[in-house]
This record gives sequence, C-alpha cells and structure tokens, in this order.
Amino acid sequence: MSQRPKLVLAGQLSTYPWVFEAAERAGIDLVIIPRGDDTEESAGRPGAVVDVLPLDLDDHPDDALAELVERHRREPFDGIMAGNERVVPFVARAARELGLTGLTEEAAAVVRDKRRMRQLLLESGLNVPGFVVIKEPGGWTEALALRFPLVVKPSNGHSSLAVIRVDDEAGLRQAVARTWQLIESHHLGATDGSDPETGVLVEEYLDGPELSAESLVHHGQVKVVAISWKGELAGPYFEETTLRAPAQLPAEILAAIEAEVIGAHHAFGVTEGTMHTELRLVGGVRPVLLEMAARLGGGGNMHHLAHVSSGIDLAAEALRVHLGREPLCWTKEPVPAGHAAAYLVPIGAGGRVKRIRGLDETRAHPQVDYVVQTAGPGAELLPYPDWSGNPAVVLSHHASDAEAHAFLEHLARTLQVEYEERD
Ligand code: ADP
Ligand code: CA
Ligand code: CA
Ligand code: CA
Ligand code: CA
Repeated sequence: MSQRPKLVLAGQLSTYPWVFEAAERAGIDLVIIPRGDDTEESAGRPGAVVDVLPLDLDDHPDDALAELVERHRREPFDGIMAGNERVVPFVARAARELGLTGLTEEAAAVVRDKRRMRQLLLESGLNVPGFVVIKEPGGWTEALALRFPLVVKPSNGHSSLAVIRVDDEAGLRQAVARTWQLIESHHLGATDGSDPETGVLVEEYLDGPELSAESLVHHGQVKVVAISWKGELAGPYFEETTLRAPAQLPAEILAAIEAEVIGAHHAFGVTEGTMHTELRLVGGVRPVLLEMAARLGGGGNMHHLAHVSSGIDLAAEALRVHLGREPLCWTKEPVPAGHAAAYLVPIGAGGRVKRIRGLDETRAHPQVDYVVQTAGPGAELLPYPDWSGNPAVVLSHHASDAEAHAFLEHLARTLQVEYEERD
C-alpha cells in the first residue's frame, strides 16, 4: 500500500501544468475528473495523475457524486479540490459527502454568486460599489438610480464574459439585453447548481487600477500570499492581459488590501482552501473587492506569480489544505525569489486561429518560464463581450518590476493571434 496521499482534482485543464507539477513536488497523487473540453488521454498525461474519472459534473452531478462515493468506499481519497470555477459547488458538496476538507456548500454558493458577495460585503461594512440586482431583462430601469459609468455583468459568470461598461442610459439598456442573451447562450447558472435564478448585476464603475490577491485559508485562518498588479482596464470590455507581482504599493495600501481580503473571507464564510480575489484600487488608494473565487486563479497561473514573488509554493499549499493539512508557510518563513509577470495573449478581433505569431521566440527567451498555448490552429475564438477561450499565456521571472513591465510591453508588441481570412 502506498503512503502517498490521493486527491481528486475536478475540472483542471491538463494543458495548465502548475498544479500537476506542484503535486509532484509535494508527493501527492492526483485522480483527475476531466473537464468537458479535455480528452481522457490528455487528462491522464501529467505525471502526478494516477487515475482518470470521466464523470459528467455539468449535466449529471448526482450520478457523478454517487460514483465518487462508491469509489471512496472501496479506495478512499484524502482530499478533493476544484480546478475551475464551475465545479466549485459540486466539489463542496462532494467534500461534505466524503467527509473531506473543503468549503461549506453555503460558502461555495456565495462565491459563485456576485449578488450574494455584494450583499455580504455590504452587511459586513466592507467596501462595495452601489449595485442593483436585475431579475428580468425589462428591469434595467432600476439601475438608473446608480451613478454612471456602470458595469453590467452576469451574477455567476467568469473570464469577463458578458461584462460590459456603459456610460449612459441607452448603453445600459443595450448592455442588459446583450448580457442576458449571453447568459442564455452560455447556460450560465442553469447547470452549476449555485443558483436556479439566473440574473444580471449592475454596479457602479470602480475607477482605479486592478489587483489580484491570492490567499490560503486553513481552519478559518487567512494568509494573503501575493498581491499582483493588473493595471488599468477601462472597458467597455475587460480582457485581462498583464499581471506583475509583487504589486509595487506603499505598505499602508498593501495592509488595507489585506484587511479587505481577509474581511471578505469572513463575510463569505470561507474557511478552507485557496482563494483568488480581484479588487480595484479606487483613486489609487481605496481597495474594493470585485469578486472572490474558490480556486487557484487563471487555471493555476497565479501560482507562478505567487511562488516567485512570495517564495510560497501556492499550488502545493492549496493541495495540502485540501488534504486537511496545515500549510508549510504557517510555520516556515518563505523566501521571496523576485518579480514575476504573466501575459495573456489577447483575443483581439477573434475568428479561426491560423497561428500565434512570436510564440517560438518567446519560448526561447531566458526570462520565460512557461508558454502555454490553449488555442491551436483551427480553434474558433469569440471576441469580447462573448468568450470561448484564451489563446496563450506567457509566464516569466524578472529582477525588478521595471524589467517585468518592459518585458510585458515587449510581448504586447511581438505576440499576436493571426486569424484565417473570412470568406
Ligand atoms: P468575471 O467573473 O467574469 O471575471 P468580474 O466581476 O471579475 O467577473 O468582472 C470582470 C472584469 O470587469 C473585472 O476584472 C474588472 O476589470 C471589470 N469590472 C467588473 N466590475 C467592475 C466595476 N464595478 N468597476 C470597474 N470594473 C469592473
Ligand atoms: Ca500519469
Ligand atoms: Ca473576475
Ligand atoms: Ca469569477
Ligand atoms: Ca479574472
């Protein structure tokens, strides 16, 4: 019998290597439940994966859970963790059924619903923009009570899909209709069980640079591991392209961000796991949460930013928390290794991908640690505010923030998706 702990990883895309590499470093075996868009063969390829469980979490969650329970009875698992946004409620439910560490189902439902996050932040006295919940497409006029510019978004979306900034009444009416249409075409809310009532949220535009905070939480104790700088994103659509860590901010602002993030964990009842929180720094000084996600950010690429900038092996620590173990950084002082950057190649106009220009040169660059292409030739990419996937991501390490910044600008000039001509 092997002594290695075994963890079920649900819905983690196999082309993103960070969590698989972390499992190898930490000596953890993974049983993977592939995403709908992944093949069983590629899901089983990473070294840490010892088994593949093809379960349909989207359409048959009850059957999937029954099978998981049956497997657990014969050959117990030691943990379960979510590898993407949509499986978070299923994973919480499975953790409870199997008696494993995880979010409560209540907390999982909260972090899948931006309306509930807003309400709980408000009730907890944390920073929130003015917001209005719209229950049907015709209800957009209720948002006229807010101060323009506004942002219209699905209550349970992801990847900035259907998130639209509007500056006036006509724009608001159109955006609510468009967002509603995209919610329907993407089946948001209908399949993940977090809320039977699909809806739209309209909130006041938070003017200031965007940040990301990665955290670990174990037995209710929160540690903010890294704060990354995403820069200014003015809309009307919000395609994120650059991140740098650690964010270069004064100590008192970093402390205010930490306080807001820790407060949000408590407000949402989040007591176990790893969280990816997005914020805006209004006026450059006041942190306001956008949302919190109960998983590693960016399919795991936030692990790289956290690992380099803080010295904390975030993905391995996340796996440990989901095994019910104390993270090593609870008792061991980490050693920051420098600056890190992430460049997400923008979709641009969208279409059928011919190739991504500049990727080979980028791979050969000494500062580059990872180049992951997620849309190969022939893939169809929908431009914002719709969305069907990202082209590629580049992760690098640097000696300074200025070097990271310059490198991201270099990538913006050299990397580009080339699409087939349309007939
Ligand atoms: P998703 O789950 O799709 O990522 P978010 O709420 O994080 O939804 O919105 C996506 C992006 O839209 C954010 O990263 C941010 O850039 C922008 N955004 C959303 N809400 C606001 C707001 N109230 N003010 C300013 N920008 C916003
Ligand atoms: Ca394997
Ligand atoms: Ca987001
Ligand atoms: Ca989200
Ligand atoms: Ca995001």
